[in-house]
Amino acid sequence: MKTIFEKIRDKEIPSYMVYEDDLVMAFLDITQATKGHTLIVSKEPYKDYLNTPDDVLKHMAVVSKKVMAALSSLYQPLGFNVLNNLGEAAGQTVFHVHFHIIPRYTNHDVTFEFHPKTSTPKETFIEIHQSLKSALS
Ligand code: AMP
Repeated sequence: MKTIFEKIRDKEIPSYMVYEDDLVMAFLDITQATKGHTLIVSKEPYKDYLNTPDDVLKHMAVVSKKVMAALSSLYQPLGFNVLNNLGEAAGQTVFHVHFHIIPRYTNHDVTFEFHPKTSTPKETFIEIHQSLKSALS
């Protein structure tokens, strides 16, 4: 079954498409978190960030920059959040890789909260540092 973003790609459902090339498309998010909230979406339906080829991810980053530059000159936001939700627990609802480009006009128009239960002990930092560094080498 097609994802909703494939249906948009194939013009089976309407969208406010603002950019398209062979690999990537960009259209306005139907829920405008702020004015100009845009989705950068792969043409192929890779289900999430981890399952997307590097060349496509790189191009999504380049198109994100292009869209932010255009939004900057049109609306002069004070900044942007570039957001990817990976997995249901992280809030992903459409399993077709996409970045949210969210212009920020104040520092309270969108909130992201971290909820640390306690401060992290030094031994935990040491364990994570060693494991992750060695996994990446
Ligand atoms: P996520 O929760 O990160 O998977 O984001 C999915 C996003 O897709 C949400 O922000 C939705 O508002 C947006 N969305 C869903 N359907 C459409 C649609 N038909 N056109 C534009 N945006 C959509």
